[in-house]
Formats: sequence, structure tokens, C-alpha cells
Amino acid sequence: MNLRQEFPLLAQTNLTYLDSAATTQKPQTVLDEMDRAYRLCNANVHRSPHSLGREMTRRYEAARAEVAAFFGAGEGYQVVFTSGATDALNLAARSFLEGFGRPGQQVIVLLSEHHSNFVPWQQLCRRQGMALRVIPAGEDGRPDLEQLGKALTKKTCIVAAAHVTNTFGVENPVEEIIRLAHAQGVPVLLDGAQAAAHQPVDVQALGCDFYCVSSHKLYGPTGIGALIARKQWLESMPPVAFGGEMVERVAVEETRFAPLPARFEAGTPNFIGAVGFARALGWLEEQGMEQVARREQALTRLLWEEVRRIPGVVLPLERCPDAGILSFLLPPFSPYDVALLLDQQGVALREGLHCAHPLMQAMGLPQGTIRASLGIYNSEEDIERLCAALRRIASIL
Ligand code: PMP
Repeated sequence: MNLRQEFPLLAQTNLTYLDSAATTQKPQTVLDEMDRAYRLCNANVHRSPHSLGREMTRRYEAARAEVAAFFGAGEGYQVVFTSGATDALNLAARSFLEGFGRPGQQVIVLLSEHHSNFVPWQQLCRRQGMALRVIPAGEDGRPDLEQLGKALTKKTCIVAAAHVTNTFGVENPVEEIIRLAHAQGVPVLLDGAQAAAHQPVDVQALGCDFYCVSSHKLYGPTGIGALIARKQWLESMPPVAFGGEMVERVAVEETRFAPLPARFEAGTPNFIGAVGFARALGWLEEQGMEQVARREQALTRLLWEEVRRIPGVVLPLERCPDAGILSFLLPPFSPYDVALLLDQQGVALREGLHCAHPLMQAMGLPQGTIRASLGIYNSEEDIERLCAALRRIASIL
């Protein structure tokens, strides 16, 4: 499977792109689909009676159906388009706590969360007189389930956890988390931003209550994502953004809100983005998510084995990551210096605290890590180029 040629940005260069956890490159088919949508059927959705408006509305709703199908969201679930995972997480947190949170209750999150699944809960808990309970991770990077089990009480309102962490590529034991929480009648939100591009995800089989994703990490455009949620919750959750199209009737005295999903999609949505997002998911289905997962797992193992063999490399999480995200250090160089020196050698990756300050602080990593993350277009050659460049940097000393 050599897909590099399908990605214009990569096909034109010999760049080794190892920053897919930050954002993925886009295949030609996604760019074409969005170009065609702008050229041939650009019109606002759910408003205009003309054929163009009807066609764009049809495509927008078809995109919603594609997202639902890709994530196994059956009848009991609703896809709400958002501007990305952060927006989906903020929407879910704000609306859920406004609807169901009571002073004195608590929200449980994991220490390893991305800020997007940490700060909203922290801030909203503070505003609503609720407590935030943070579950630490063990040596293997996975949350302490015994602590989680003990923390779950009648006062727990919701549990929020990443499916896969963006720092160390740890796949959290989400089935176990859901089982423990549901046994206490507590719903679970999963942040799927880092999981969705790398493995098949079936929200119904998982049984989660909320699942949040970003299109741009799934080979689709920026500015679009989704909150996939059980209707059972969404139906009783208040809208948090107000405006056009999310209403059924507005009078001076009162407003009646539209049914799902419009109630949560105020204003003009990113309909061209939705079309691009759906094409990206369709293209991923053509590749086969099982196959994508198998290939990335083999590459992840190779990445881990090769990088750890380089003299001087330190792996804060020693074991092989579950998903294609490897965090490491090359002391005495700072992660920032290593990233700059790698960039000079045609290797693009990220360094720093990766929007996970609480975890980095707990692990004693004030400068964070160097993070190499894999995408569908990466090959053994990219890993060789990274390692050769790292060896050259290490030899400066
Ligand atoms: N959660 C995780 C685990 C992430 O890695 C990211 C993106 N780095 C986000 C949430 C937020 O995604 P976005 O910036 O696309 O809203």
C-alpha cells in the first residue's frame, strides 16, 4: 500500500512527514470533491428552495449519514457537525453539565487528557460548583482502573477519556472504563481525535455515550468535526449556541428550538467541509480500516524498535505505543532543538508539551517530548530517514 502519490503535498517533495497527530495531509480526492462542491453546487443548506440549495442540502445530509456509517452510529445515535474535536468536546461538556450537572457532583477525567478534554470540564465544574476528579496513569501509561472504580459514586455525573492519547499513543481501556461507569449509571464521553484515523471505530459496539472527532486528523479538511452522541442524552440537553436554523419558532416572548440535530448547529454550517470530510471517510473505507490498522501497527513497532536503539534516546514510556505516536527525548538536546535540526534534514515532527500540561508535569517532563506520529502515507523509508537524522544529531556531541 503506497499511498504517498495520492497526496499532492507529499508527492511533490521527499519530505518525511511525521506530524499526522497534529494534522494529516489531504488526498487529491478530498481536494477534488471540495473543489467540485464549490464550483457546481455551492448554496446554503436547509434554507433555499432552489435546486442548488436542495442539492447542497442533500449532500450535507449525505455527509452526516457517511459519518454515522463510518463510526457505526446506528438509530440510537445522532451526528452533530461541529468545527472540530475541540468544539465537539466544548459543546458536549457545556450542554451536558448545564442539563445534568448539579452542585456537589463530580466529573471524572484522566490525567493524560489533551487540554481540549480537560480544560472545559475543569472550568465548567468550577462555574457550576462541581468537583473535577483526575485519574492518574500507571507506568504503562494506562489509567489506574482501581482508582477509577473507587472514584465512581452516585455523585459522578460523567466520565471523559481519550480513546487514544495524543502524547504517548496509549489506547485507553475504553471498554473497561465504559463497563465500570455504566455499572453506576454514569455516561462516558470518548475523545476520539487520535483514534479514529488509525483503527475501525464502532461507537455502538463500544457503547459510549459521546464520541468526538476532527476531520483534519482523518485526511479531511480543517474546520469540521463531529459530536456523535446517544439521542437519549442529546434530546434532554440544552443548546449552547443560538442563532439561525436552530429554532423552530421565535417570538418576542419565547423561542422554540428545532429538533435534533439542527438544535445544536446554529448558523451556517461548514457544508463544503462536511462534503470533504465525508469523502475522506469514504476514501478511508476504500483503503479498509482493518488494513490501515494492521499496517500502522507494524510501522509503529518498527518506529519504536528503531528509535529506541539509537544511542542517547530516552523513552519516557518504555513500552511500544498502541497507536502510531512515539514520544522520546535526546538529551542533552532540548526537544525544540531536535525538532529544528530534524526539520533541516527534511523530517517534520512536533515537540513540546502537546497540549497535555498536567501529564507532562506529573511525568517530570518540563520541556515535553519529541513526538513522531504516523499517517497512512508513511513507510519504512520515513522511519529510516528519521533514525538516520537522529543519529547525525546524536553524533554532534
Ligand atoms: N483531543 C486530542 C486527543 C487531540 O490530539 C486533539 C488535537 N491535537 C484534540 C482533542 C483537539 O482537536 P482539534 O484541535 O482538531 O479541535
